[in-house]
Amino acid sequence: MKRRNFLFTAVSGLLGAGIGAGAVLSTRRGEDLSAPMVASGKRELTMVMTWPKNFPGLGTGAERLADSITAATDGRLTVKLYGAGELVPALESFDAVSQGTADMMHAASYYWVGKSPGFAFFTAVPFGFTAPEANAWLYWGGGQELWDSIAGDFNIKSLPAGNTGVQMGGWFRKEMRTLEDFKGIKMRIPGLAGAVLNNIGGSAVTIPGGEIFNSLQSGTIDATEWVGPWNDRAMGFYKVAKFYYYPGFHEPGSTLECAFNLDTWNSFSASDQALLKGLCAAENANMYAEYMAKNSSALDSLIKDEGVQLRRFSSDIFSGLHKAWTTVLDEKVMSSGDAKAQKIAESYLSFRDEVVGWTKLSEQAYTDERAKVLDLS
Ligand code: CA
Repeated sequence: MKRRNFLFTAVSGLLGAGIGAGAVLSTRRGEDLSAPMVASGKRELTMVMTWPKNFPGLGTGAERLADSITAATDGRLTVKLYGAGELVPALESFDAVSQGTADMMHAASYYWVGKSPGFAFFTAVPFGFTAPEANAWLYWGGGQELWDSIAGDFNIKSLPAGNTGVQMGGWFRKEMRTLEDFKGIKMRIPGLAGAVLNNIGGSAVTIPGGEIFNSLQSGTIDATEWVGPWNDRAMGFYKVAKFYYYPGFHEPGSTLECAFNLDTWNSFSASDQALLKGLCAAENANMYAEYMAKNSSALDSLIKDEGVQLRRFSSDIFSGLHKAWTTVLDEKVMSSGDAKAQKIAESYLSFRDEVVGWTKLSEQAYTDERAKVLDLS
């Protein structure tokens, strides 16, 4: 746990107040921008992350993307990676890329809802897209163009570069049988999903990854969500909360981003831009595959080796959560006065309502029937 806590403490940069960041920023600005690293056709790009280096899935995916950029260009482009808090605190990555202190970042767009609630839709929102549906919207439904528009306002070019798939509903100390059971529950669940919990009488808190285990153990919080079995097992939540609920209503397919400073992006040749788009798309698919490959065995181990009690949220709970979500969506996005966020939400919801019919009679119908014949339902 000691090393793990150290790693996750770095995530606390997510909420850190930016201690020392100004000094680091000005140093980097002086060193890097006054002396561009363009020599002999070689160029080193600085990439910050909102996760620690080697963080399973997210950090390792960013590193794999960095390595693929170097490999695909025979070392002409190299990427110097900085984990959360190493160059700037995680939540200052956006400003660092916007200002050109860093050339690029690997992050989750919903961290930037303080800039506009529209950014939430490029990671995940409650009752939103699964990973294949998110990709359909981003690549074929106008999502990337809307992302370019809102990120462009901040001098940033974002591309999809990873996906966790459907996240689990979270870890609870007691069984959650009805919507009433959420009343008074203090749960770590960030963003718009947290507002949904508050709406049904719970109390949402956003605490950094490194503090979740201790908060759950000490009773400061009653419950937490994180990602899925592969990542959650490493966090050790099963030691203090035995009820593991599925599916998560809040992050049904979280897209991660590789985002470039727009001036950096525009300085690339057309062929380099095409290459970088392709490599980001490859990592977008590869990370999703990795989660799919590793979650199942991790869940088996949690149940068989750790005595975790797997539970499914009832349809009544889902129905109540959805009612709360419609209120939150109206208050936080549609009535926010942010015209671009409203336009993004309208495109997202319209595409979801269109694609949901096909999902229902293709993947959903097939996997339901397959589960029945394989006796797994
Ligand atoms: Ca999560």
